[in-house]
Amino acid sequence: MKYRTILLFGSPGSGKGTQGRIIGQIPDFFYFSCGDAFRNLRIDDPLGRVFIDYSSRGLLVPDETTISMWSRNIQAATLQGNFNPERDTLVLDGIPRNPKQADMLKDTLNVIGLIHLACLDRSKMIERLQRRALRENRLDDANLEVIKRRLETYDKETTPVLDYYGSELVHEIDSTDHPVKVLRQILDVIVRL
Ligand code: ADP
Repeated sequence: MKYRTILLFGSPGSGKGTQGRIIGQIPDFFYFSCGDAFRNLRIDDPLGRVFIDYSSRGLLVPDETTISMWSRNIQAATLQGNFNPERDTLVLDGIPRNPKQADMLKDTLNVIGLIHLACLDRSKMIERLQRRALRENRLDDANLEVIKRRLETYDKETTPVLDYYGSELVHEIDSTDHPVKVLRQILDVIVRL
């Protein structure tokens, strides 16, 4: 059985996590952030060290490692009863992050829509990330060079995912609007899906 899935898509700092956490509070939606799952690993877990090695350089964690970490987390959430694949819509943030990952997940996900929190104003994204650095204790947000590398990685490796799924599935939303307006637009999309 494939998971009925909505992808939250957008560059670092576009507000995917802010919006995803709210949507995850709605009954019958299960929110999963790949970045949060990596950050929740223990520092003495070898995978936690792999994550720090790559994320501190603004690079993506290798695909096989990422997909197996994702599967383990989703299976655990299912066993614990937090995610019910029969009933819930899965809201994914940060995965798939390149066309290879999308391909690896094609037999697992039934993607019914992709919500693209788009922003052309890079300086605004950088400002948001720098504010978040202290608030959320994120090392990868604290260093301007790492932020720039992450934005480059996003442009080069992640934006092709939009083409992978095709324009019929993509819903564009301006992420520079106030979060409450962004939320309203996301909800408008979701109720139609
Ligand atoms: P961002 O704000 O940069 O989008 P995330 O919290 O989504 O941050 O991800 C933080 C880091 O975790 C990324 O820079 C990357 O190193 C790693 N990561 C998260 N998701 C993935 C993924 N699907 N594939 C590979 N690496 C990932």
